[in-house]
Amino acid sequence: MSRQTEFVLRSMEERNIRFVRLWFADVLGSLKSVAIPPTEVEGALAEGVGFDGSAVEGYTRLSESDMVAHPDPATFQMLPWRQGTGTARMFCDTTNPDGTPSYVDPRYVLKRTMDKVSEKGFTCYCHPEIEFYLFTEAHKPGTRPVPLDDGGYFDHTTLGAGTDFRRDSITMLEQMGISVEFSHHEAGPGQHEIDLRYADALTMADNIMTFRVVIREVAALRGISASFMPKPFTDHPGSGMHTHVSLFEGDNNAFFDAADETRLSTIGKHFVAGLLHHAPEYTAVTNQWVNSYRRLNGGGEAPSYICWGRNNRSALVRVPLYKPNKSASARVELRSIDSATNPYLAYAMILAAGMSGIEHEMELPEEASNDVWKLSNRERVAMGIRPLPTSLDEAIRCMEDSELVADTLGEHVYDYFLRNKKAEYDEYRNQVTQFELDRFLPSL
Ligand code: GLN
Ligand code: MG
Ligand code: MG
Ligand code: MG
Repeated sequence: MSRQTEFVLRSMEERNIRFVRLWFADVLGSLKSVAIPPTEVEGALAEGVGFDGSAVEGYTRLSESDMVAHPDPATFQMLPWRQGTGTARMFCDTTNPDGTPSYVDPRYVLKRTMDKVSEKGFTCYCHPEIEFYLFTEAHKPGTRPVPLDDGGYFDHTTLGAGTDFRRDSITMLEQMGISVEFSHHEAGPGQHEIDLRYADALTMADNIMTFRVVIREVAALRGISASFMPKPFTDHPGSGMHTHVSLFEGDNNAFFDAADETRLSTIGKHFVAGLLHHAPEYTAVTNQWVNSYRRLNGGGEAPSYICWGRNNRSALVRVPLYKPNKSASARVELRSIDSATNPYLAYAMILAAGMSGIEHEMELPEEASNDVWKLSNRERVAMGIRPLPTSLDEAIRCMEDSELVADTLGEHVYDYFLRNKKAEYDEYRNQVTQFELDRFLPSL
């Protein structure tokens, strides 16, 4: 029995755990969960737990639906909101019955990509700034959401509903071993941001999955609702999940060069160049919903154009300058990614795009120092600044032409993802919207 397995079994006894939830993500990033009693845990850790993959988005075809979930004992944590009945969770890797890794498991897609990064001698660290909205109640179809407060950026709201909410959520996250670096009210009414402390990409993707559950649970406990929808309001900013990335070689931050004006090393510059070069191809993954494009097209400090800058909040990639001379904090920030992405697939794509930049020694284009929104199209073209895809439809087409995305996601996830997203777009594009009724019914 491994030491981790022993630790899990001992903790279960000490803390009187009655249920263990086994968690994994489907291809779209929805969390799946199956609960087992304590008596099953030792067996589950040794052999896995069988489940019917045909019922899970993106998993298997009906003829090959048997899958096995293998809990990762390193991810064992109590669920703090289940007070009373001791409940814990572990994330799982999924395999086929013959023990081969499942090619449809998003966690495996990320692990495979991270292996390629470590073959080149790098460890990757990420930290996300996660934005979300709080509404007064659960959504009722046909109605518009009502924000919980009317605060703005960094506001200390007087009634403090949002502040209390953040305090409770952060307490729970910390109880689950997830460190929070920063939290504040965001620009929209009822909009909040919580930034997680950096970790390796896989731990962070797991943390983001947990974060979403914690935020929703805390909202439910308070009788309100929380949403990671990229753009719930036409007139308020959307919810992004800007992600800061750095690569380390041993203890050295491979992105840092004190002698360069940008403080970014050659490796860092190639990485950014890769993020820019491949941006149209991976945007369907980082921004996977029809609603994601309302955010990207809607201003509010979300990027629409493929460029990089230092103090430029309209850029797709920003090189933050908070502590320019501190090697450990050198990093790059991707700003397109939104709060409703599948973090495993999105982080796999970010790493793959950056590593492709390093491998092909891609040249970093000139820094965009102006607000690229204010330039004319002609000026942007002259500067070589391309737009991001403006709709899910366009993003799907770019992804269809991408070898990088096909190689990174693997054939099955790539095909499933494209099929699923095309169906979403087809359903969406036939809708007659309220906008059209209000604009055209009186006059046409
Ligand atoms: N909400 C903005 C976005 O969608 C970001 C605002 C900010 O953190 N500067 O990306
Ligand atoms: Mg922030
Ligand atoms: Mg923010
Ligand atoms: Mg940011």
